[in-house]
Amino acid sequence: MNSSSFAKTLLFWISFLFVGVLLWRLVSANHIQTNEDQPSYSEFMAKVEAGDLKEVTMYLSPNSYDLQGEYVRPANRGFHLTIPKEAAPALMEQLRKKGVLVRVKEIRSSDWTLILLNAAPLILLVGFCLFLMRRMQSSGWRNPWRQSQGVRTGIGYDLHRLAEGRKLIVGGIELPFDKGPVGHSDGDVLAHALCDALLGAAGLGDIGTHFPDTDPKWKGANSLLFLEHAKKLLDEKHFAIEHVDAVVITEKPKLGPHFPKMREALAKALGIPADKIHLKAKTNEGVDAIGRGEAIAAHVVATLVSR
Ligand SMILES: [Zn+2]
Repeated sequence: MNSSSFAKTLLFWISFLFVGVLLWRLVSANHIQTNEDQPSYSEFMAKVEAGDLKEVTMYLSPNSYDLQGEYVRPANRGFHLTIPKEAAPALMEQLRKKGVLVRVKEIRSSDWTLILLNAAPLILLVGFCLFLMRRMQSSGWRNPWRQSQGVRTGIGYDLHRLAEGRKLIVGGIELPFDKGPVGHSDGDVLAHALCDALLGAAGLGDIGTHFPDTDPKWKGANSLLFLEHAKKLLDEKHFAIEHVDAVVITEKPKLGPHFPKMREALAKALGIPADKIHLKAKTNEGVDAIGRGEAIAAHVVATLVSR
């Protein structure tokens, strides 16, 4: 179990327990109410006279006072009585004369319980909505109202001369061939065009801005590193790669059989599923430099969505 699914399971059980406790409190609150007398004023006074109660707690409200407590006889039976504010001084005097302990409180502690109980469903609902939104976001769900303004498209193009004695690397995969691209890095046209398309869609310049070919750091570099870096930049700007469509143009060798491995390598570098990458191969029908086998080129269109 990974940490996120552990957190979700934990959250589920905490919510479950919380709802359980909430229901229990509601039920027990009802139970207490049924075990509580609501005597009239005269009945209450009769109980006082009979010496059936020893303690009363008086809760002060703006217009009336609530009296609560438990009888001595019958045991474990509570009472609840509301009296007008004006009647309070005389009643308190009488109670004290009868030796009943009177406590005066501003706010009933049960009020806080009541407030919490009332607010709990709302808190739970808000929490559940947040949880649901996070889950939807993590599973690729996007706000449909934001989607239309969050779609971006970028185009990328690259061409490299082919020369003998160089490795032919296309889409992060080395292909068996007697020529390879001339370039500062490994000369991967597909990775370079893809990088430009992604950076262009996000408004982040181009590959030359981020990986200048004058920098010795990038000499002979694996171009998948450029894609990994581009992906980090996209993440920082909250862009997700929705789709990539590419055409690689070369007279030889045949690229089609290598596409599954290329898609896998590119998808891994970009941290996306391989089915988001679509590759096509073309020849140039023997026309111009590409047609004569002197160069290889690629065109890529990338679609991003903001998260
Ligand atoms: Zn290039």
